[in-house]
Amino acid sequence: MEYQNLRVNGRRLQESLEEMARIGATEGGGVHRLALSEEDKQARDLFVKWLQEIGLKVTIDDMGNIFGRRPGKKDDLPSVMCGSHIDTQPKGGRFDGILGVMGGLEVLRTLNDNEIETLRSIVVANWTNEEGTRFSPPMAGSGVWTGKLDKHWIYDRTDMQGKKFGEELERIGYKGNILSKPDPIYAYFEYHIEQGPVLEKENMIIGAPEGIVGMRWCDVYVSGTANQVGPTPMEGRNDALCAAAEMILTINALPQKMGGNMVATVGEIHNFPNSRNIIPDHVHFTVDIRSWDDDRSQSAWIDAKENFQAIANRRGCSVRIEETWQVDHMPFDQRLVTRVLDTAQQLGYPVLKMRSGAGHDAGYLSMVAPTAMIFVPSIGGRSHVEVENTKWEDCESGANVLLQCMLQCAIEA
Ligand SMILES: [Zn+2]
Repeated sequence: MEYQNLRVNGRRLQESLEEMARIGATEGGGVHRLALSEEDKQARDLFVKWLQEIGLKVTIDDMGNIFGRRPGKKDDLPSVMCGSHIDTQPKGGRFDGILGVMGGLEVLRTLNDNEIETLRSIVVANWTNEEGTRFSPPMAGSGVWTGKLDKHWIYDRTDMQGKKFGEELERIGYKGNILSKPDPIYAYFEYHIEQGPVLEKENMIIGAPEGIVGMRWCDVYVSGTANQVGPTPMEGRNDALCAAAEMILTINALPQKMGGNMVATVGEIHNFPNSRNIIPDHVHFTVDIRSWDDDRSQSAWIDAKENFQAIANRRGCSVRIEETWQVDHMPFDQRLVTRVLDTAQQLGYPVLKMRSGAGHDAGYLSMVAPTAMIFVPSIGGRSHVEVENTKWEDCESGANVLLQCMLQCAIEA
C-alpha cells in the first residue's frame, strides 16, 4: 500500500473524543478533569484500555506518564513519538490536550487496520499534569521525564487543599515503577488545538509553530494589617488588597511599556480573610509573563519587581515574591517544522507557519529530541473555557498530518 494514501478514520477519532468528553463533563458543555483527580484516573483507565485493545505494550513511569508502544522492525532505533495530555483546566474544554492523545491513538489504530510495518517503533504518550492548575508548575510529567524538573520537588507540590502531588499520584494508582527518564527519540510530534484566533482568521486548517514563547510564572504574597473597617480611618491603613490591586495594574501595563509581542496576566488571586468588614491583611496572586524575546521578559520582570516593592512601601505593606517557574522561548526542529508544512500542503490543507503563545509538553521535549507541533483552528479562538471547540473535519485533517509526518519519520533509516 502507498503510505501517502493512508488516512485516519475521522469518525472513530470523533467518537473517542466524545467518549473522553463524558469523563468530567460540565453542564456548560466543557470538561473538568484536573490532574490526578478521580476524573483524570477514569480517563487514564480508558486510554490504557484502548491502547491494550490494539495490542500495544503500555508502560507507566513514576511520574504517571503513560506510553503505548507499537514496535518497529528495527526496534533498537530511536522511536517516533507523539503525545499530549489528558488533564484539563477547571471547567476547561473538550479538545485541549486530549485531541493530541486521541489523535496519536487514532494514528496507531490506522497503522494496525492497514497492517503497516514501520522501521522505527511508534509511541503515543500522555504526559501528567500539563495544565499546572491544580499543582504548579505545568508540564510536570514531561518536565521530569526530560530531566528539566526535579521529581521529588514535584512530588512535594501541594494543591489548594494541601494534598501532595506524589500522594495523589499514588492514590489514583498511576505511580508506575519505571524511572521517569527519556528514551532515545528520533522525532516528537504534538498535535494540539491552536487556542488562539490566528488560523481561523487567516482561513487556515493547519498551523506549524516554529516554537513556543518563553514563560515566567511567579507567586506574589502581599501582607498588611487587618482591622475593623468601621473605626479604622483611611489614613494609615496597610490594606494588602489595595496594594495588590495596584500591582496587578502594573502587570497589565507591562506589555505596552516593554514593547514586542509580550503578554502579561494575573489570573488567580486569593484575599484573606476575605470579609466585607475586615481590612485585608494577606493577598496571594499569580503573574504570568510570556514573550518570544527572553531578554525583554527578563527586563519586564525586573521592572515588575521594582514596582511591587515601591507600591508595598507606599502602602505600608510587605511583599514576598516566589519565582515559581521559568522557561526561555523554545524553538522547534527546523526539519520537522518543514515536514509539517510540506505534509499539510501535500494533503491539500492550507497551512500557516506561526508561533505558539501557549506552553506545551513539546517545549520540554524539544530540549531532548527533534520536535514539532501540529495546530488546528480553535473556533472563535477560545480555549481553557467550556465553549472551546474545533470542527470535526479539522480534527481529522490534523490527525492525517500527524499520521503522515510520523509515518515518514518511522520509515526513515
Ligand atoms: Zn494543552
